[in-house]
Amino acid sequence: YDDRDGVIWMDGKLVDWRSANVHILTHGMHYASSVFEGERCYGGKIFESRKHSERLIFSGEQLDMPIPYTVDEIEAAKYEVLKANNLTDAYVRVLAWRGAGEDMGVASAKNPVRMAVAAWEWGAYYGDAKMKGAKLDISKWKRPSPETIPCFAKASGLYMICTMSKHAAEAKGCSDAMMFDYRGYVAEATGANMFFVKDGEVHTPKPDCFLNGITRQTVVGMLKDRQIKVHERHIMPEELEGFEQCWLTGTAAEVTPVGSIGDYNFEVGAIARDIAEGYEKLVRS
Ligand code: PMP
Repeated sequence: YDDRDGVIWMDGKLVDWRSANVHILTHGMHYASSVFEGERCYGGKIFESRKHSERLIFSGEQLDMPIPYTVDEIEAAKYEVLKANNLTDAYVRVLAWRGAGEDMGVASAKNPVRMAVAAWEWGAYYGDAKMKGAKLDISKWKRPSPETIPCFAKASGLYMICTMSKHAAEAKGCSDAMMFDYRGYVAEATGANMFFVKDGEVHTPKPDCFLNGITRQTVVGMLKDRQIKVHERHIMPEELEGFEQCWLTGTAAEVTPVGSIGDYNFEVGAIARDIAEGYEKLVRS
């Protein structure tokens, strides 16, 4: 991704794509003092753009690294990048991090908080097989307890186990991995939330130790509009056997039906299809 044409917004200026670099003593690289957002622009409009900017500011607060921009300034930066790169349908990545500076130890309060915004075309996150039902592995890593990490921040450090889980999944021919939480309940995939269907009703893990995704919240609203009952609750691993349909939600994943998790199989059923198609319409309306 580093060698291409285009411009990236960095600390208030548009810089050439290939020159959008940081110093090797960047605090964020050594100690994961870094938070980010992933967003999608559809037909020139970023879906739930302000919610993403608000979450970035919240994530920064959680890591004690106040983002030096307001929601309006972040909004302007995102649209400036899209316009400068001539993009109307794109993935938008906003990153904020502690830069290099006076501190090279764990404490970094004197180092500047920096921000960058990049955008590029990114199709279906799970490729062409999207509506056939993704194949998921079961990760050996657990979502940690809220007492051990700032679990509601979209913080780079929390993705270490996600990358490891996804690598293990891909090595087995799967597209992603489902993770349990520290208590053993079903939690989420490595970059997406999960929903299940049983007897016409929807069950989704209660987001009490992981991100309550913006797509997840949108889909809960869509289900309620359709008068489909949604149970947000703790889901035990042994319940997986009884679920008939499953799908993932996330900005990158959008709504992707799941065909299997380990040895458990699901059909790409009517509710999964309806929600996937409904979401596609909604983001462009
Ligand atoms: N969980 C994790 C770990 C994620 O990375 C994401 C993607 N941001 C989500 C859930 C879904 O969040 P959203 O719908 O806000 O993109």
